[in-house]
Amino acid sequence: ALGLARQKNARFLLASTSESYGDPQVNPQPEGYWGNVNPVGPRSVYDEAKRFSEAVTMAYRRKHGVDTGIVRIFNTYGPRMRVDDGRAIPAFISQALRGEPITVAGDGTQTRSICYVDDLIDGIVRLLHSDLPGPVNIGNPHEMSILDTAVLVRDLCGSTAPITFVPRPQDDPSVRQPDITLARTLLGWEPKTSLHDGLTRTISWFAGQLAESRQVA
Ligand code: UDP
Repeated sequence: ALGLARQKNARFLLASTSESYGDPQVNPQPEGYWGNVNPVGPRSVYDEAKRFSEAVTMAYRRKHGVDTGIVRIFNTYGPRMRVDDGRAIPAFISQALRGEPITVAGDGTQTRSICYVDDLIDGIVRLLHSDLPGPVNIGNPHEMSILDTAVLVRDLCGSTAPITFVPRPQDDPSVRQPDITLARTLLGWEPKTSLHDGLTRTISWFAGQLAESRQVA
């Protein structure tokens, strides 16, 4: 893709990830932080592939003058996620709506900062149409523990499902929060959707999906 962008004089945008920071020792994470990634752990194929993609994108920029941009995407949620993709938000919503135990990993004190999809897309499009090389963090800086997130989702679903604690995956980052100073100052971007509104919209979409799958069955 970088070769094609070079040939066609196109701008190239790499969708990278907050996983570039690994299990960060700096919180929130500014773009200048180099991260703390286990190169041989269970998440390493994903993390290091993204880090290598960033490296090769920058090499094409330096060596071949390709117009490149890198966005580091933080945890994102919204309608049309796969119900069973294993991530926290789809898992919590579908468990709460079905009245099944809500699976919180570890003691749930690890944090994430979740961004509504429409906000993320707005940030990415702004970066695409700028001439910034990045990396630029796009995410919502509102940081919450996973346990609090599970309880909030359950409440918004109007559910009484119990919380159950399950083993924490190896190398699961213990904190994650974007520093969005760059996006704010250089792209005039910040998230607009409140957690309450974003989750309510997402929950009603999931409720529709679950009702549909019951009809099919
Ligand atoms: N998590 C959880 N229960 C689940 C799925 C995930 O407690 O059913 C936790 C997971 O261990 C992590 C956080 O929620 O601490 C976010 O996980 P997710 O897979 O959504 O995103 P990522 O780890 O890539 O940030």
